[in-house]
Amino acid sequence: QKAEWAKLKDKESVTADGKVFMIGANIGTPKDLAGVLDNGGEGVGLYRTEFLYMDSKELPTEEEQFTAYKAVLEGMAGKTVTVRTMDIGGDKNLPYLPLPKEENPFLGYRAIRISLDRDDIFRTQLRALLRASVYGNLWIMFPMVATLPEFRAARKIFDEEKAKLEAQGILVAEDIKLGIMIEVPAAAILADKFAAEVDFFSIGTNDLIGYSMAADRGNDKISYLYQPYNPSILRLIKNVIDAAHDHGKFAAMCGEMAGDPIALPLLVGMGLDEFSMSATSMLQARSLMKKLDTTAMQALAEQALDMDTNDEVKALVESSINN
Ligand code: PEP
Ligand code: MG
Repeated sequence: QKAEWAKLKDKESVTADGKVFMIGANIGTPKDLAGVLDNGGEGVGLYRTEFLYMDSKELPTEEEQFTAYKAVLEGMAGKTVTVRTMDIGGDKNLPYLPLPKEENPFLGYRAIRISLDRDDIFRTQLRALLRASVYGNLWIMFPMVATLPEFRAARKIFDEEKAKLEAQGILVAEDIKLGIMIEVPAAAILADKFAAEVDFFSIGTNDLIGYSMAADRGNDKISYLYQPYNPSILRLIKNVIDAAHDHGKFAAMCGEMAGDPIALPLLVGMGLDEFSMSATSMLQARSLMKKLDTTAMQALAEQALDMDTNDEVKALVESSINN
């Protein structure tokens, strides 16, 4: 099977009936690039920049960040690189950036909430990204966005830093796309409004499922509630994809669900544009995609969206697709 997958390395990600999708990789550092290219990644769908901050004894400088972003953009040689701005907080802490003690860190001060509050840190990251943008095809996304004013504030800061660099005569790319992660149910529900203003969505199902089901996957007592195939989750995802497409925007997914062989046929049926996953899952996903017929997957997704439970959907997919 592995040998069969390896043959797909330089192939498109395409269904049996010829519909083309994108399969990209999730990375944490520039060191992960070799694995992405070895496994035929068509882009980086999620670069988790918080590792730059976590692997450092102090806030990484603009120069250190620039070097890392440039390496990833150059390494991908013109393929899309979607960089997520710092997602600190929740379970990810920085010793040199004391965060307030909170009752519910996952519902607290984290990700874009920190970036908008500590815009000094955010501006440094955006400047490094802007300067690196000329070395490849850069997309930037903001984590844990819950409201439109948060996105607008982030975009305003981005525009300000871009104008400052240009005034200094520093070259920056003109076509950087700005998007948001869809991880907060409020944003998933209001996706039509967001879609009018963002360039793209990337659905972060790891958090979106947890927040929607009010269930922490790390908690064994209630792990049965972590249900990626629950029709409520599938309907949220469908709403996000449809909203993006109604506005001519791009819909990606970078949560673990994107690389899940049970979810993938449903996501093909719902018309997700990009599947971003760990590099080691990409060829298997491409191989599965090749066996699927889009029209049949649309019907399968419709059936799933009308079911009652997670387990019913799982059984439906298992009985319809032979991996
Ligand atoms: C997600 O929440 O699905 C996601 C991709 O972000 P992270 O796993 O880094 O929280
Ligand atoms: Mg997340």
